[in-house]
Parts: sequence; C-alpha cells; structure tokens
Amino acid sequence: MLDEPCQADLSERDPATGHPRPPRREFKARGSFTERCPGCQLPVLNCLCPYQASAESEARVWLITHPLEHFKPTNTGRLICDVLPATEVFTWYRTAPDPRLLALLDDPRFAPFVVFPDDQPDYADRVVGIEAVGEVKASGRIPVFILLDGTWRQARRIFRKSPYLDRLPVLPLATSRVTRYRLRKPASQAHLCTAEVAVELLRQSGDLEAALVLDDYFDAFNVSYDASRRYEKIEQPTSAMRRLMAYRTE
Ligand SMILES: [Zn+2]
Repeated sequence: MLDEPCQADLSERDPATGHPRPPRREFKARGSFTERCPGCQLPVLNCLCPYQASAESEARVWLITHPLEHFKPTNTGRLICDVLPATEVFTWYRTAPDPRLLALLDDPRFAPFVVFPDDQPDYADRVVGIEAVGEVKASGRIPVFILLDGTWRQARRIFRKSPYLDRLPVLPLATSRVTRYRLRKPASQAHLCTAEVAVELLRQSGDLEAALVLDDYFDAFNVSYDASRRYEKIEQPTSAMRRLMAYRTE
C-alpha cells in the first residue's frame, strides 16, 4: 500500500506484455544513462546484491500486486520475495482472478488475513487483531498476510472488487512507525510502503528475525537507490548493510 508515485516512477514496461515501453521524456532525461544490475535491478552504482539475505518465518506473505505496480523499480514488494522465498506474488486483474490464488485460499493448511485499514463500517465484523495470528499458529495452521501492493487507491480498489477476499478476516496494521521510504513522495508519514508493512506484521506476530532482516534489507535498498538517483556512490556500508553481510555469512 504505497502512496501515489511521482512522475519519474511511471512504469517503464507495459504491464500486460512485460515489454519495455517507449520511455517518457522525464524518464529519458533522468534514467537513460543509468545502467541497472541484472541481479537486483538497481542502478549498478550502488548494487543491492551483496546484501541479499533470506530468513525463515512462521507467517507467510502473499502479494496481490496491481498490474501498474509490477515493473516499477521502486516497488518494495519484491524485497519481501528476496528475504522470504515462500512469498507468493499474484497480479490482480479485476475480471480474472488468478486460479492459483483461489486454490491457495481454499487450502486448509493456510489461514490468510487481508491486511487493510479498519476505517469503514461495512466490514467491521471481519476485523481482527494481531493476536488472531498467534491463535492460528497455536491451531497448527500457517498464518498468511495478504498485502495489496499498489497505491492506496489501487489497494482500495483491489479490496473492494475482489469477491474472493470478502470471506477473509481483515487485519489492520496498528503501528506508530513512520515511513522511511525515500523513493516516492508520501502523502502522509504514517503511510508505510509494502515492505515496511510486512516488517511490522512479522515483528508484531513474533517472527522477529525475519522482521529484522527484512527491515535491514529494505533500508539498504532505500539508501542505495536514493544515493544512485543523486549519482552518489556509497563508500561506507551503513549499519544495516553491515548487519546483512554478517547475517549472510552466519
Ligand atoms: Zn545487483
């Protein structure tokens, strides 16, 4: 659930075909000299690959990603996939739900929660607290955080226009965290990007190690990408980067 993207973040690829789009003028002016690493898709100036780490978690994450969000290099949902390899990603098409997602929603091993604010009265009876995640674990099922990956407007649309989500419990994220995401202009400091939402859910539900690794990886991504946009080379690894390198060699 991200804020509206700024101009420079407009998708570089056709979400339907995955083919590169003719670049917009702004993108060309800012990005045409930026060579990207094939491993992490970040500008090679500050590549993220040395910090890529994976962690174990009891809870899982499934992303339902808006098609316009998929190929944005500033998307943070893919960071969750790097750290938690069991993460599932589904592209949202209003009239054509992914059959694999529908099958997983019916799989009794999983107990999925739709992560969404509890600010509307019409689904108040489905709203649960974070303690519900612990109850699911105690019953032997795998809790799943379903994150709606897109702008706030796109996430709201996915929530409202996906009948297969209507029977799931709604888990609002209660946190005082303010966003550290620098790559898009936030409408509010309380609007967290997708990776930050996952960090807080993992932390609050007891997956502390996964939360720490993902938070550090998000931090490394955020700082690296931001520096590259200013054509600055990071000479000294940040503390988050140093922790990730140590974690990888454990
Ligand atoms: Zn890389």
